[in-house]
Amino acid sequence: MKKQTIPEQKTIGEGRRVIGSLAGGREGPQVVLLAGMHGNEYIGVEAVGEVLDRLRGREDAFNGRLLALRANIRALEQKVRYVDEDMNRLWFPSIIREIRSTPEHRLSSSERREAKQLLRVLDQVEKKQNPHPTILADIHTFSAEGAMFTLPNLGSEQLDLLSGIYAPMVLGVGESLRGTALKYYHNRGLFSFALEGGQHENSLTRQNIVASLMVLLQQAGCIREGEEAPEMAGFREHLRAQTHHLPEQTELVYQHIIEEGDDFVMRPGFQNFQPVKEGQWLASDRYGRIKAQCDGYVLMPLYQAQGNDGFFIIKGRDEQEPARHH
Ligand SMILES: [Zn+2]
Repeated sequence: MKKQTIPEQKTIGEGRRVIGSLAGGREGPQVVLLAGMHGNEYIGVEAVGEVLDRLRGREDAFNGRLLALRANIRALEQKVRYVDEDMNRLWFPSIIREIRSTPEHRLSSSERREAKQLLRVLDQVEKKQNPHPTILADIHTFSAEGAMFTLPNLGSEQLDLLSGIYAPMVLGVGESLRGTALKYYHNRGLFSFALEGGQHENSLTRQNIVASLMVLLQQAGCIREGEEAPEMAGFREHLRAQTHHLPEQTELVYQHIIEEGDDFVMRPGFQNFQPVKEGQWLASDRYGRIKAQCDGYVLMPLYQAQGNDGFFIIKGRDEQEPARHH
């Protein structure tokens, strides 16, 4: 891997790159909140800003450090998922190597330039010597209505920490998506997961993200147990109310990938975690009707023009057939 030679130097976008940061009075985990990897998911940026506002002035009682970053600044400005290419599908070691070794002005897309700037900051995070874990939360929202959820990487530590935030955990989707920052940093040893906070513009979404991040910070030991108890109890109650009716752990069984020119259209009215039956008509494209391959719950049905995953079908982990892959 090519070494960065200009670690301290400010880059053009860097002022806006950092949403905010907080250094706690005591040692603890290093938590990085990455928001706006997709520019139409700007509620995540607002929610992260609110988390920082809530913690400001309470640094003495905070263990560890918190850093919040905007991922795709240009797409956020334009409120589009991406400008030239999906920024969350280019985190392959080979592409990242190329991004690192190519001068910014010669990179082929806006997202690669953004990634280069972001890498400068994240490289510094990775370099920090810390006996405590580094946690990377990649914050997203989605186009359909329906409940929030998390995409963890497999590993019991992750499941323990994330089960504390009540959002259903969907296993296997993180692995199935190729070229995500989540997977890249997981492979580099960070504790990384995606938080899917709710529908892009639903009024609950910001609250969902704020509540889950605050509870996560407490679970991780950054906010001490008992600290601001009434506030934390309110967050937990909010999260429980959103998700109590849903299976705690689910697993991917089917992913519909959209190819260029497919003219994919999801049928209206599907929501996250809506039960579907094998053979049920879910969407159409130029080849005709797309039907559910199996019983399960539909996840992230696509109701926006940009994006190449049409929908996922998941099942409760206890409803799962014997393991398909490991
Ligand atoms: Zn997203």
